[in-house]
Amino acid sequence: MKSHGYAAHDKKAPLVPFRFERRDPRPNDVVVEIAYCGICHSDIHQVRDEWGNATYPMVPGHEIVGRVTKVGTAVRKFKEGDLAGVGVMVDSCRVCENCKASMEPYCTKGMVGTYNAHDYAGELTFGGYSNNIVVDERYVFTISPKLNLAAVAPLLCAGITTYSPLRHWKAGKGKKVGVVGLGGLGHMGLKFAHSFGAHVVQFTTSESKIADAQKLGADEVVISKDAGAMAKHAGSFDFILDCVAAPHDMNAYLKLLRLNGTLCSVGLPETPLSIAPFAILGNRRSLSGSMIGGMNETQEMLDYCAEHGIVSDIELTSIDKLAEAYERVVKGDVKYRFVIDMATLPKD
Ligand code: NAP
Ligand code: ZN
Ligand code: ZN
Repeated sequence: MKSHGYAAHDKKAPLVPFRFERRDPRPNDVVVEIAYCGICHSDIHQVRDEWGNATYPMVPGHEIVGRVTKVGTAVRKFKEGDLAGVGVMVDSCRVCENCKASMEPYCTKGMVGTYNAHDYAGELTFGGYSNNIVVDERYVFTISPKLNLAAVAPLLCAGITTYSPLRHWKAGKGKKVGVVGLGGLGHMGLKFAHSFGAHVVQFTTSESKIADAQKLGADEVVISKDAGAMAKHAGSFDFILDCVAAPHDMNAYLKLLRLNGTLCSVGLPETPLSIAPFAILGNRRSLSGSMIGGMNETQEMLDYCAEHGIVSDIELTSIDKLAEAYERVVKGDVKYRFVIDMATLPKD
């Protein structure tokens, strides 16, 4: 099947128009015509080879929403014209313990990423900065027509990556929960933690984001550079979700956890983190990580958002403005997720 989109060809050059082929749909595949695709900081890390695993040409994008234009003969969940979403993964082994428990990101064979990955047949995968995508229906989500479609796109990565750990560590009524970094992931974490009924403290390095954080549901906002303001919260949090994309001092947040509290890092800075042993030993604290979320949980999150009217706060952009969007994301200057309007992709 013919596809076209924008690709990176090395870690320095800007993304440019790119024609490529996708597999013809198999019996279980759906073809989704992409309407919108979010820009995740992971796209930037990978395009710039900050994780050291870049394979070019790379068509990024894993916050994909659109309409089904074709279904294979065995497809049950979708028909032509349905709304559909694709997230960070497009396949997994389906038979390991973790896949059977719908914990597909932790597939023991290794899940297949939506882009910058090789599928089990060895073909390079291409993501959502493109006109269409072919995916097995098991890895495609149903999307409610109730919500603004463009603002749903970021739920497919930023949404599930924050929803999953907040659910796992039971952020809710009676819990004091911190969210670090008010970016694409952070603003969704804040919305979910607030919606689940927790007392939420937003940590930010940006004084200009205080009012927004309050509007998004923060009970308190702390400027993380203010040592005095940080010290007031020492030993008081049940759970802190760290959504920062750059190297920073995690010990400062570990110290804020109460007995048995957990700091979960979903951010993926390119350099190793440095942890002071005393920061975790006090209060028997835990440091953890979390990777997107399983298929069932992602659908649960999308349904929860439709029921509660939760979407991402977005700035719609066009495919020819990727370089500008990337620069602004890196500066923390986006409110709070860029979404590419795929109608701006040249027809061919
Ligand atoms: P983003 O939109 O750029 O947000 C990151 C936020 O971190 C910024 O808005 C900023 O918030 C804060 N920040 C930036 N530089 C900082 C610094 N030097 N020190 C302290 N704070 C800083 O990024 P994102 O798309 O939300 O992604 C966040 C991270 O999660 C990335 O590393 C991404 O690769 C990773 N990720 C992981 C998963 C997973 O499965 N675990 C999934 C998706 C993304 P303030 O202005 O409020 O300080
Ligand atoms: Zn992502
Ligand atoms: Zn598996």
